[in-house]
Amino acid sequence: MRDKAVNEIFKTAEAEGRDFLFEHEAKNLCVLYGLPVTKITVGETEEDVVDAAKKLGFPVVLKIVSPQVIHKSDVGGVLIDIKDEMGVRQGYKTILKNIKAYVPEAEITGILIQKMAPWGTEVIVGSTKDPTFGTTLMFGLGGIFVEILKDVSFRLVPIVRSDAEEMVKKIKAYKILEGVRGKPPSDTKVIVEILLKTSEMLVDCPEISELDMNPVLVYEEGAMVVDTRIIL
Ligand code: ADP
Ligand code: MG
Repeated sequence: MRDKAVNEIFKTAEAEGRDFLFEHEAKNLCVLYGLPVTKITVGETEEDVVDAAKKLGFPVVLKIVSPQVIHKSDVGGVLIDIKDEMGVRQGYKTILKNIKAYVPEAEITGILIQKMAPWGTEVIVGSTKDPTFGTTLMFGLGGIFVEILKDVSFRLVPIVRSDAEEMVKKIKAYKILEGVRGKPPSDTKVIVEILLKTSEMLVDCPEISELDMNPVLVYEEGAMVVDTRIIL
C-alpha cells in the first residue's frame, strides 16, 4: 500500500491542473522514498523567505515556484550561494523581477528556499516511460557527459542491487567516480542506494512519466539531490 502522503502530492498537482510537480513536491516525494534531498521551505512574502533562510542556515539557494516555470534557471529563477539576510532580500526581488521580464504571464506561487549543498561530483538520475517497454531508469555523470558524450546507462525498472551496481560501473566516466588526479573518489555505494530507491519510487508511482534528478551532488561520503523535476 502506498503512503497517503504520496497520494496527496499527486492529488494536489492534479487538482491544480498541473502536468508537473513543483520542485518542493517532487523532493517531498523523494523523501518519502528515502532519497537524500536538500532541506526545503516555500515562502510567499519577503519576510517569509528571510525567516525561512534564517531557520535553514546560510548559505541558501532561492528558486521560483510557478506553474508556468519548469526550467527555472533559464528564466533567472535560481539564485545560489546567498550568504546573508541582505542577499535574501535582494535575491527575492531579483527573482520576481526576472520572472516578470522573461515570463510575464507567470503566476508566482512562491519562492523555494533551500540549503546550498557543498560542491560535489555531479551525476544525473532520470527516467522516461515508454508505452511498450515501460519505465526506464537512466544514470550518468552531469554536464557534458550526458549532454554531449551521451555517456549514460539504462535499465528497465524494477532493478535489483546488481543492476544498480552495473549501471554505475558501465558508464565510461566511471573512472572519474573512482577518483582521478588527486580528486577524491565518489561514494558509489550511495549512488547504488539512490538508484534502488528511485526504482522503487517509479514502480510505486505510475503517475510519473518523466523524472530528472539533475544534479545529484556526490561526495566522498554521501550525496545530495539538489534538483528534482517530475513530469506527470
Ligand atoms: P533548473 O530548473 O534550471 O534545472 P536547478 O534547480 O537545477 O534549476 O538549479 C540550477 C543549478 O543551480 C543546478 O544545476 C545546480 O548547479 C545549482 N543548484 C541548485 N540548487 C542547489 C543547491 N541546493 N545547492 C547547490 N547548488 C544548487
Ligand atoms: Mg536542474
